[in-house]
Amino acid sequence: MDSDQKIARLEKLLEISRTLSSNLNLDSLLASIVDTAKQMTQTEDASILLLDEGTGSLYFEATTSLGREALLSESVPLDGSAAGWIVTQGRPLILDNLQKEKRHYEQPEQKVDFVTRNLVGVPLQVKDKTIGVLEVLNSKSEGPFSDDNLDTLTILAAAAAVAIENARLFEQSDQIATIVHELRTPITSIVGYSELLLKRSNIDPQDKTAFIEIINREAEQLRLMVNNFLDLARLETRRRHLKIVPTCLNNIISDAVRLLMPQAEDHAIDLRCALPDQPINILADPQYLKRVFINLISNAIKYNYPSGHVDISIVQHHTTIDVLIADTGVGIPPVLLNHIFDKFYRVADQQESVTGSGLGLAIVKEILEAHGGTIRAESVQGHGSTFTVTLPL
Ligand code: ADP
Repeated sequence: MDSDQKIARLEKLLEISRTLSSNLNLDSLLASIVDTAKQMTQTEDASILLLDEGTGSLYFEATTSLGREALLSESVPLDGSAAGWIVTQGRPLILDNLQKEKRHYEQPEQKVDFVTRNLVGVPLQVKDKTIGVLEVLNSKSEGPFSDDNLDTLTILAAAAAVAIENARLFEQSDQIATIVHELRTPITSIVGYSELLLKRSNIDPQDKTAFIEIINREAEQLRLMVNNFLDLARLETRRRHLKIVPTCLNNIISDAVRLLMPQAEDHAIDLRCALPDQPINILADPQYLKRVFINLISNAIKYNYPSGHVDISIVQHHTTIDVLIADTGVGIPPVLLNHIFDKFYRVADQQESVTGSGLGLAIVKEILEAHGGTIRAESVQGHGSTFTVTLPL
């Protein structure tokens, strides 16, 4: 590389570092880092693996690989992998001939039908801590990897690590601000009404009961929000560590229906479930998937009219399966359909009588995405809503 080329490369890297530090969306940030790494080192693929301190293994956070979907659910052990070596040692690694290497971990590439011939990886470090690895695979040019490639990756990795850490801190503080804001509403009611009860001695017994009921309802609301929030937080951090096993979808749905039957009876709702006789086998984490149907059916009961119906049905396609949960309830205004899956979002006017945390659908969406599935909602206001869960077969 001559000096003009070197200057051009440095300028490009500086420009990239600047865009990286101004981008706070972690996913798009990491996607642009791996793209740039691949381009600038002229390699076939680039990936970022981050360390999960909970499990002590690495997982693919971003990759240019065509088998992206398969890789993103893969974890790589620290022992016996090149990426693990880089993280443990906190040092870069160049491997020019991988077929001879014991440090190479083959499982992920077998999944995406990729043969790694050579690789360069550098640690992503924040202060003295290694948080992951940036690696590029299979040089497109002849001969061993050059030091220029290592320099490029080192500069990119330094910018990336800082940006990742910033984005994480930003996400955390943003979430904490939202939670605090949401918790404030029930807390204000509880404090207000309990102070009233304590300070005024001459409250008539009817009012007294009404105040205690409000305190009780708001405390219940608070408990629900805190529990759901903890679930969601756990889910977000362990997203890639679901216990995926062969699972019978029919059983999951009928378990959820059985659990919610008493709630349906309390509200005089006819809960009907039409499942095919033959078992539908999918790959899923049964506990989490059951949660999806519990949340959806529970909403279909909660936001229904007395004597309404809830119908659960299944439509099988070639490679996917749809589960439909249809209710005859109050419905959702069309313009709000995009928002109901957001954290803490509740449709105004409905919430007076119905307790909820606004987290149920966010949890549903998170779980389904971790399964490679999707959810969509259709609704006619005043007549009912249908939620369609699509899962890969
Ligand atoms: P919540 O705990 O408030 O029920 P969710 O996240 O489960 O929270 O749902 C978000 C909001 O979407 C609810 O507050 C409600 O306004 C609306 N919603 C969800 N399911 C239905 C439904 N089946 N019919 C009408 N509105 C619904």
